Formats: sequence, C-alpha cells, structure tokens
Amino acid sequence: MKITRVETFLAPPRWLFARVETDEGVVGWGEPVVEGRAEVVRTAVQVLSEYLIGQDPLRIEDHWQVMTKGGFYRGGPVLSSAVAGLDQALWDIKGKTYGQPVHQLLGGPVRESVRAYAWVGGDEPAEIREAIAAQTEAGFTAVKMNGTGRMGPLASRADIRACVLRAETAREALGDSRDFAVDFHGRVSPANARRLLPLLTDSAPLFVEEPVLPAHHHALSDLVSASNIPLALGERLFAREEFLAPLQAGVAVVQPDISHAGGISELRRIAALAEAYGAQIAPHCPLGPVALAASLQVAFTTPNFLIQEQSIGIHYNKAAELLDYVADPEPFRFVSGSLLRTDRPGLGVQVDEAAIRAADRNAHAWRNPVWRFDDGTFAEW
Ligand SMILES: [Mg+2]
Repeated sequence: MKITRVETFLAPPRWLFARVETDEGVVGWGEPVVEGRAEVVRTAVQVLSEYLIGQDPLRIEDHWQVMTKGGFYRGGPVLSSAVAGLDQALWDIKGKTYGQPVHQLLGGPVRESVRAYAWVGGDEPAEIREAIAAQTEAGFTAVKMNGTGRMGPLASRADIRACVLRAETAREALGDSRDFAVDFHGRVSPANARRLLPLLTDSAPLFVEEPVLPAHHHALSDLVSASNIPLALGERLFAREEFLAPLQAGVAVVQPDISHAGGISELRRIAALAEAYGAQIAPHCPLGPVALAASLQVAFTTPNFLIQEQSIGIHYNKAAELLDYVADPEPFRFVSGSLLRTDRPGLGVQVDEAAIRAADRNAHAWRNPVWRFDDGTFAEW
C-alpha cells in the first residue's frame, strides 16, 4: 500500500482537517492544527507530504521519526502539530486496514468509557451557577472554567477575591461528589499564582490548569509546594522531553493535545513518562471530531488517564461545532458525562466529507483575541 494524496481543509470555527489517501482506497483523517495559525500548519503539512507520498502508510513510527527529526531545525507548535495530524491519519489507515480500532493496536482497552468534562463560561457567580446546572442536568460529573479574566502581574484584592468566589460558587453548585477544574490559562503571574492557590484549597478543585505560562515553569516546584491542589499543564508543550521538568517539579496532571504534541504516537509516550512520576493525563482537546476520536483511542488504552477535554458547547466555538462534521454522532453521545468505547475500525469516527469540503470553500481565518489592560499594555488572553 502506498500514500497517494494528502489534502487539507480549513473548517470553522478554527480547525484544519487532513485527508490521507492510499492506492488501495483506504483513507485516513487527522486534525493538524494550531488554533489561530491554521494556514501555517496547512503549509507545513504540504511540505511534509512531499516526503509521505509514495510511502507505505503502515510504517508510522519510521515516518514519525523522519517527519520530526529529518530536518536540522525541529520542534515547535507548527511542525509538531503538522506531524500530529498526519500521525492520526496514519493510525486511522492502519486501523481500517486491519479492521481494528486503534486502541486494540496499542495493546487493547483498559476501560469501557472515558470520563469527560464540559466547559462553563460566565464571569459572574450567578452565571456560573446556571451554567453548572445545565451541565449537570446533561449528565456531566465534571466541569472546567476559567479562573479569571485579565489579571495584572500583582492582582488587586478584588481580583483575587473574585477568583476565589467563583471557585466557592462552583463547589457549592456541584456538591462534594462532582468535580470542577480551574484554568488559569497562563493569565496569572507566578506571584499571583502563589497567592491564589492557598486561597482555593477549601473549594478543592480537581486541578488548577496552566498555573503559569510555560515561560515561567521555573516557578513550578514553588507552586506545587504552595498548596495541596493538584497542578495540571501541557497544552502548550509539544514533545515528551518538554514534560520532563514539570513532572520532576511535581505536577500531578499533564495535558498534551493530540493535535499539537506529535499525535497518537507521542501522546502514548508522554502518558508513559507521566506514569513513571505517578502523574495522570487529561488530554487537552478544544478541537473537532477527528482529534477527539484520536484522543479517545489513547484514553481507552492508557492506565493513567484521568479525564478528557472536549469542545461540544465550548464558549470559543461559535461558527460551527464538532457534530457538524460527522456523518454519525453515536461515538460522541455522552452517557452520564462519559463517552463509551466502540470497536469501530481506525479512529472510530465517520467524518462528513461533504461538510468538510464545503467548509473549506469559505475558509476561516480565526485569530485569538488580543487583550489589553486599561493603560493600553498587552494582557495575556
Ligand atoms: Mg487550558
């Protein structure tokens, strides 16, 4: 079998799909994307395709090695995401070729369902209460919310109190048997994080995500010691070696994104590295159906898996959503807040190819918002 064609499709709200075709008619799908840089990743996929066309699609590991290391300059979000989406498509082809779900090819299932969380937006405590009620009524047992909006490097007492109040409101709305996670989203400086974490301990979030930006990871061991709240991070890390220092600093949860961190092949290895530190994976995934399906395949076969992010109903995605691009929504039907394992071959997702091709004809150019403080200086989004 040989790879004969690689196509890419820009699709709202901010995604990119890749379709890899073979001479035997087997087609694989992936999502190679960096949100806000989708066109750049598309070009990277085209360049990598020069190598892939004519190759045997089943030699995934060898292609992964060449695509990530076959250039003098390596790594970073664009190249790693291009490789990630192509890796997903190659695993899809392999599973379809052998008539097996990818999790069977990775060693077989260790669980029958994957717990997922839903996002709750809203800045005021009353809105949080309503948003949480809607998700618990839909069956979710866990939600995630942003901890804060713009936050100055040394926050006011009011900003600190607002974050604490949101967490207290969430805990009150959920009771003790459901979970909420708080995403600091890299908006919080190391000094603010050190101040905030102890104040959130009474609300007992499942974890606090991206307590600081990757640029400030030198502060992680201090932040791990600052409270008993498990810390999570990793959506902006792209290879296993980048997870080593945070794991050594004591983070409890790593959150690689299957469309950024080298695909199924690398997510498996990041999970194994985390396992050596007693840490869990909670894969980042605010993306489309192919990325989520690929992430689920890893979750079904990974022992130290905690919880899966997913984008259905997420506040970022306005123009379109995950179910717009699938021919059969069944693999994405939540049962008590979880997604059930299926034995469909490959990634287990049947995309709506016509919808994806149609989306690309009105290609999006999504860019992330640029925030500023009142005096005009740049603020982290
Ligand atoms: Mg996040």
